[in-house]
Amino acid sequence: MTEYLNIIPGDEPHNDKVLAHCAGIIKGGGLVAFPTETVYGLGANVFDEKALLRIYEAKGRPCDNPLIVHIASVNELAVCVSALSESARLLMEAFWPGPLTMIFPKGPSIPLAATGKRGTVAVRCPAHPIARRLIQAAGTPVAAPSANISGRPSPTGADHVKQDLDGRVDAVLDGGPCPVGIESTIIDMTGEPRLLRPGFITKSTVENVLKHGISQSPATLDTPEAPGMRYAHYAPLAELIIVDGSAGKTVEYINNMCRESGLGAEKLGVFASDETADLYKNARVISAGSRAQPETIARSLFGALRRFDLWGAARVYSEAFYDTELGLSVMNRLEKASGYNIVKL
Ligand code: AMP
Ligand code: MG
Repeated sequence: MTEYLNIIPGDEPHNDKVLAHCAGIIKGGGLVAFPTETVYGLGANVFDEKALLRIYEAKGRPCDNPLIVHIASVNELAVCVSALSESARLLMEAFWPGPLTMIFPKGPSIPLAATGKRGTVAVRCPAHPIARRLIQAAGTPVAAPSANISGRPSPTGADHVKQDLDGRVDAVLDGGPCPVGIESTIIDMTGEPRLLRPGFITKSTVENVLKHGISQSPATLDTPEAPGMRYAHYAPLAELIIVDGSAGKTVEYINNMCRESGLGAEKLGVFASDETADLYKNARVISAGSRAQPETIARSLFGALRRFDLWGAARVYSEAFYDTELGLSVMNRLEKASGYNIVKL
């Protein structure tokens, strides 16, 4: 049985009680899904190996795909890692708490079950106030991958967690929608800093802080170091096709394809931007938001993929969002979700 608990803005006595209850579940070896600024996480005490195994079981996650360890303050970093570079200190100062994960050599007390049996550990200090209060109340760093079934779109609301993990986890803490909506930026800090996963904190922002360029793992690299690359990722049930071209050509192409598909409008979806959403015919359209505000596109992406599934769409066309740096992070997810099914016009 999964317990569903709500954060009520402004009702601090209630929230304290709920957070203490969830912290108790984590201390007792249980699993709690909770909101962070990126996506919902599925949390367990990082030092409890049985609880870590339950995370893998609940998500159907391959056991070599490591977890991210969440801390509420930089003080907790010492127990997680065995070395800290000057560059890592700079990035911590600039971006923590926030949506940046860094990979460090792991501390001896971090179980290999949390790191996919690697000698390195991923650590993040989240900015979301509920996540921070929960980790603090649990009194331990909390291992938390995204709270979805492995391979499904990441959860950006408590309803998404319920769709995937009802009955598989002890509690779901509903703190509303996630403000960022895509997973954290991941940088490997064990050698020369290397971007493993783009996110809300972009490559150039990181480079501005470090005052030098950093390398990026090629998106096609099939190694454990390229997060998400080895397994089907973010995939909706519908066939997803990305259409990359000018606004005019994209609208024309998608409308033609929808008309010729032989599928009814209720089986066809389009993920569009505000600028063009009204121009699509013969399909159900979800607008990601305005291209002038790529943050809104990031925020709506995973929820939209899930909504098309709930609608029973058989095929979804998506506009491409390569035009901004944050758009590139969105496309990193969309490309994987589509299985690299991209039409270039
Ligand atoms: P999730 O929290 O579901 O986004 O998954 C965490 C991601 O972080 C996974 O895709 C991992 O590949 C990546 N990750 C975690 N720990 C490490 C590590 N030690 N080295 C490289 N990547 C890591
Ligand atoms: Mg994930």
